[in-house]
Amino acid sequence: MAQSAVSDATRGDAGELLKELERLSDVFDDLPREALLKEDLLRIGISFDLDALRFCASFKSKSYFIFSFDMIPIEQMEQEENLRAPEEIRFHGGEFGYRPTTVSVRVNPYSPYRISLEEGTLTLTAGTTSLAEVELLPVPEYYKRKLSTGQPLNEVAPTIEWGYLIYLTVYRKCQYFGFKEECLFCDINENYRQQIAAGRPYQTVKPIEEVLEALAIIDETDEISRAYTLTGGSVTRKLRGMLEAEFYGSYARAIEERFPGRWIGKVVAQALPEDEQKIFKDCGVQIYHPNYEIWDARLFEKICPGKQDYVGREEWHRRIIAGTKIFGHENVIPNFVAGIEMSAPHGFTDPQEAVASTAEGLDWFMSQGVCPRFTVWCPEPLSPLVKGRRDEGLEQPPAPLEYHARLLRAWRDCHARHRLPVPPGYGPAGTGKAIFSVSSFMDVIQV
Ligand code: SF4
Repeated sequence: MAQSAVSDATRGDAGELLKELERLSDVFDDLPREALLKEDLLRIGISFDLDALRFCASFKSKSYFIFSFDMIPIEQMEQEENLRAPEEIRFHGGEFGYRPTTVSVRVNPYSPYRISLEEGTLTLTAGTTSLAEVELLPVPEYYKRKLSTGQPLNEVAPTIEWGYLIYLTVYRKCQYFGFKEECLFCDINENYRQQIAAGRPYQTVKPIEEVLEALAIIDETDEISRAYTLTGGSVTRKLRGMLEAEFYGSYARAIEERFPGRWIGKVVAQALPEDEQKIFKDCGVQIYHPNYEIWDARLFEKICPGKQDYVGREEWHRRIIAGTKIFGHENVIPNFVAGIEMSAPHGFTDPQEAVASTAEGLDWFMSQGVCPRFTVWCPEPLSPLVKGRRDEGLEQPPAPLEYHARLLRAWRDCHARHRLPVPPGYGPAGTGKAIFSVSSFMDVIQV
């Protein structure tokens, strides 16, 4: 095997890992145990026995809907995990009677969290400890279809969040390019290259006609999906002769004309000037995600150099708040990438300080009626944050679980203190019910 991109912190000893999970479950006993395990699975990934992987391959597989969200590159996957691993798992039961908890799969063959097949049942283990039973989502009817162009439907319109969200990455690249512009945690451009090399039929820009054809099939055959997200890389110049809002808005307009109100329409895009945000609104977009990625000013500049140069942090935040007049407060939901505050070499080294910084941002937004949400960072090997360190012979470990425990508490308490509603467009909230799979913010809301 080639030199691995995986840090020692994600190879870990199962005993140590479980001890830390247990310690934090005691210290943070106001958080659901399920949420702590979920965050740990997201931050360090999951490994699979070969039998388990073969079993998984006949269920709904990972679609690589935008980034890799894996902890090794495809060329190092010796068991073809990229073709066989499930999009998500749902764990439940075990010694602690875990309530059903949905988790996005991040492949890491070295992770102590392992899924095995035991007497026909998938089990989540760590070392010799069996933690929970694992359930998978069957392949939906629409995934079995091809479009008239020959494209598989799951490439054009994959679903995540246990089938709730249709994820339309209509532009597979980003015009923030290279170390001086790309967000350093992001592997969108490199993932595009590795997926093409691995033979996945990625298209740089998805034709609107294919998107509509795919949605027509989903509309006919499915009753679970409730929302779609239009997204992709940033457009800093023009794409197909259009500005960013015109480009992504053109898909929303076509979808809403053909299927008015069938799904909740969301768009992830830059924090754009108000007149461009209005284009989204006019096209039928209901929810706007102008992701701010990280709160701390010094780290924003280092980690999001393109966003800093083209827009600037203060202006980015101003535009987020300005969006509330266009979409309504609860419909402006910016994302941040939880954990990059602790990335080397510039980040915080103390989880308490990292969360204090993030909590300052949460309070700033939430006091103005905007509820940020987050994705758990896993260090992707092709992202600049990991590649840069690897080139120097250094590691880029994920943030420790203690950071995630502190963040969950800070987010939950800030949300409750400002009496904000459950963010729309994510399905049900609460432990045992949440389906949002890339962090536990929906799991910790007390409903
Ligand atoms: S804006 Fe940043 S996070 Fe978004 S696709 Fe481009 S490089 Fe990635």
